[in-house]
Amino acid sequence: MKTNRRKFIQGLTAASAGLIIPASCTSKANTENSKNEAPSIHSKNKPVKSNHDVVVVGAGLSGLHAAMLLEEQGYDVQVIEGRNRLGGRVYTLNDVPGKPEAAGEYIGANYARMRNTVEKLGLEMHSPDMGGGANRPWLYNIKGEYITAKNWESHKFNPLEGEDRTLLPHRYLSTISNRDNPLQDKPLNAWLEDEYHKYDIPHDQYLRSKGVNEETIKLMNVVIHAGGMHNTSAMNELRRYHVMNFSSGKTTFPDGTSWKMIKGGNSLLPEAMAGSLKNEVQLGRTVVGFKEADGVVQVSCADGSEYTAKQVVCSIPITVLKNVTFDPVVQGITKDAINEMDYGLSVQAHFLITEPFWEQDGMDPNMWTDGPLERFAVRTKRDPSDPDAGLAFINGPESLKFRLMTDDQVFSYVENKLAEIRPSTKGKLKRIMIQSCERDIHGAGDWVYWQPGQVKKYANHMRKNHGNIHFCGEHTAIMERGMEGAFESGERAALDIILNA
Ligand SMILES: Cc1cc2nc3c(=O)[nH]c(=O)nc-3n(C[C@H](O)[C@H](O)[C@H](O)COP(=O)(O)OP(=O)(O)OC[C@H]3O[C@@H](n4cnc5c(N)ncnc54)[C@H](O)[C@@H]3O)c2cc1C
Repeated sequence: MKTNRRKFIQGLTAASAGLIIPASCTSKANTENSKNEAPSIHSKNKPVKSNHDVVVVGAGLSGLHAAMLLEEQGYDVQVIEGRNRLGGRVYTLNDVPGKPEAAGEYIGANYARMRNTVEKLGLEMHSPDMGGGANRPWLYNIKGEYITAKNWESHKFNPLEGEDRTLLPHRYLSTISNRDNPLQDKPLNAWLEDEYHKYDIPHDQYLRSKGVNEETIKLMNVVIHAGGMHNTSAMNELRRYHVMNFSSGKTTFPDGTSWKMIKGGNSLLPEAMAGSLKNEVQLGRTVVGFKEADGVVQVSCADGSEYTAKQVVCSIPITVLKNVTFDPVVQGITKDAINEMDYGLSVQAHFLITEPFWEQDGMDPNMWTDGPLERFAVRTKRDPSDPDAGLAFINGPESLKFRLMTDDQVFSYVENKLAEIRPSTKGKLKRIMIQSCERDIHGAGDWVYWQPGQVKKYANHMRKNHGNIHFCGEHTAIMERGMEGAFESGERAALDIILNA
């Protein structure tokens, strides 16, 4: 049973109102894709039948959203996932005190597709304690000296002038980058337009051209997720804050707040999405190859299992695709993008705090440093009975070295660096877990970032299908970012199939 184009578009949620339908969706070529219908030949001797209308690779938000939409339209959909858990970059650490979110955390009021799905699946949201996030009050350790937020304005290390001296270092990147943002008041997809390509230059170069000094740029490097201020396109950063401006303030939840989380943990959402599907999501199926012939795509997994379908939605992070074979091979701009794009890195070291070290030295427990440790925070408790837990969060260039370390080595590194600048922590931390979105073969990092020149080269190309393989994932979104970007991209991939395939 298939829906016609007009009925489908009418049926989309209000969330889709802002979605730009790709040019490729303007003509209708809807085929009758019923299950097991079209035998086809993959190799000389072996006829291959498509077992499903669509195979979706990846059970993160983008893949699951695409699967739900396709199923709603009568397609037989099978989701396969490489990890042994659902959610991808939505991952509630249920075994860590306070059940922190390891990745996708705050749901913006403008996340219409996501909010609609949360409501449809009967989940509840609550307002998080935003003080527990990146904007908590910090004790700064800069050039080896402790500085309180109160003393920062008059401190000799403060590199800014005039009223800007009241800005706190952890706000430099967002506040200063967002100033006179050329995208302000423009549509969310304006960053793709030619007239903004002049900002597709290293972000530090852009900031210098605005008169920002070196010391300020150095402090911004503490919070950058990309490989450094020189390695991220100014357009990447300007777009980031443009989307953020759109989320905060302009749209609010009915209670007036701008951000929420799922009650019980954000992982409940991908779990409920997967639970709503007719075919059970197959976990532990790492895709290693795609082969397409005669309108059928054969999907091969590392464990030897194979799936066939007429269409595939692939939400694998773009850099992970380097390790996946395509037949016919991927060439041209898509191949270059797979080889050259990169994701921001961060590493989280989670500890149990066995004794409140801050009572011993009388200083604030939460530290923000310009040294290799970057940030150490005592996590906000979800439940008053939770024990105290601490988190070292290191991102950007400083986190690169952890790629070559085991979890034990990361723990030792963090404990030693911490003890050097905060001796009271010695012997008061118990190791719980190391978490990073790229510490296994299925993850590429936190989120895609565009290096200087890459917006112009690749941004308009990421959504292009490879035969019957349709790519989705936050890296392919053009309006939204983060979790809503994942939803946007899943919707676009589903539309590509429903309207064209
Ligand atoms: C630290 C951190 C904080 C964040 N905070 C926020 C926030 O506050 N708000 C917000 O909106 N967003 C936030 N994000 C971003 C958000 O989590 C992601 O943008 C979003 O979840 C991405 O969804 P996705 O479906 O595109 O990708 P993924 O969730 O990565 O899904 C891809 C799936 O494909 C699977 N896969 C990979 N390779 C294979 C293979 N070969 N075979 C089979 N399966 C494979 C993966 O296991 C994964 O499940 C944060 C991310 C991080 C890391």
